[in-house]
Amino acid sequence: MQFSFFCPTKIFSGTECINLNSNQFVLLGNKALIVTGSSSSKKNGSLNDVIAALDKEGIKYEIYDEVEENPSLATVFQGGQRAKKMGAEFIIGLGGGSPLDAAKAVAILAVNEISSEELMAKKWEVKALPIVAIPTTAGTGSEVTPYAVLTVDSAETKKSISGEDLFAKVAFLDGRYMLNLNWPITANTAVDALTHSVEGYLNKRATVFTDMLALESIDIISKLLRTMESDNISLVQREELLYASMLAGMVIAQTGTNIVHAMGYPLTYYKNLPHGLANGIVLKAALDFIARHNPKRVTKVVKAMGYHNLPEVGQLLTKVLQPIDLKLTTEEQNKYVEKIIRTKNLANCETIPEERDIYEIFRSSNLSA
Ligand code: NAP
Ligand code: ZN
Repeated sequence: MQFSFFCPTKIFSGTECINLNSNQFVLLGNKALIVTGSSSSKKNGSLNDVIAALDKEGIKYEIYDEVEENPSLATVFQGGQRAKKMGAEFIIGLGGGSPLDAAKAVAILAVNEISSEELMAKKWEVKALPIVAIPTTAGTGSEVTPYAVLTVDSAETKKSISGEDLFAKVAFLDGRYMLNLNWPITANTAVDALTHSVEGYLNKRATVFTDMLALESIDIISKLLRTMESDNISLVQREELLYASMLAGMVIAQTGTNIVHAMGYPLTYYKNLPHGLANGIVLKAALDFIARHNPKRVTKVVKAMGYHNLPEVGQLLTKVLQPIDLKLTTEEQNKYVEKIIRTKNLANCETIPEERDIYEIFRSSNLSA
């Protein structure tokens, strides 16, 4: 049985886990830059909890709260300057996947004088500063992955960088921060986590170990998507989602994503669709494509979701995702397909799709004009 598995992140989960384990911050340094979004962490209690823990431990901090959704290179370079200027010794990423990923890039740029091209070509020589990751969506799983996904305008798409130094040293998972997360973001981010496990399971690099994590998280997320009441989600359900999203992150940390994420990136870049929604709208048709080549593994996914066939999976996705009115012109599809085909994570597909397969997935997803 040949496999490798690497997840060096110390994980603390549960109510008040930051306060209860504040001594973890001390191990990382005396000065921290908190990297977060513009508003949600101030409202959901997470920023207050981090500040209280840092104060308790006598750690100095500054806050960089300018991270937008799908963070740009300009944002992370500005954050890097802030970290340098204050002499940050570690970086705390707080929020959804966008601030978490931005924090990773900031941790690199705090200690390396490099250009954006060098950053994207992974040419940093000094290891990134230690990173603490506190997710407030469930989610990207970024708290346990070595990836940071950034918007690269020169390439008109999103691209990821990776490195062992981009694994968070510590992750804190407290479901309370998501209690007021609205339904569209809850559903989109849960579907993102679902696609991580599905793509990690239907993947050239899947192993016995990632399979176990993937099937478990697919089971948990699907059950929740079927049963959660959109306006009344309990703390226990929030915690389960956060846990499953972390498992899914552990999966893609080993396998990478593949066809669904490759197709989602242009939909986010050009049409501004949230990441999880962009993935969710092509998921069913992507599964139809994969099922033609590997029906057994797809059947396992469908069963783990609690269903008998793919149309039922499609119905669940239609039920939980916001309806969108999006039709891509032929020119748009041509442009997207050209980019998708060159996306590096396509290499993780067991059967690598050809251009006509991608067009077919757009068509079957009702996205063709
Ligand atoms: P996000 O872009 O981080 O945040 C989306 C929205 O949710 C923002 O408006 C944010 O507000 C709000 N929000 C976050 N937490 C909240 C809370 N607890 N309560 C209320 N509102 C909250 O969304 P995301 O889906 O988590 O992250 C997507 C990004 O992660 C994409 O760039 C994607 O490519 C990347 N990603 C990374 C990995 C990886 O392994 N590194 C994997 C998958 C996806 P504020 O802006 O005010 O905070
Ligand atoms: Zn994702």
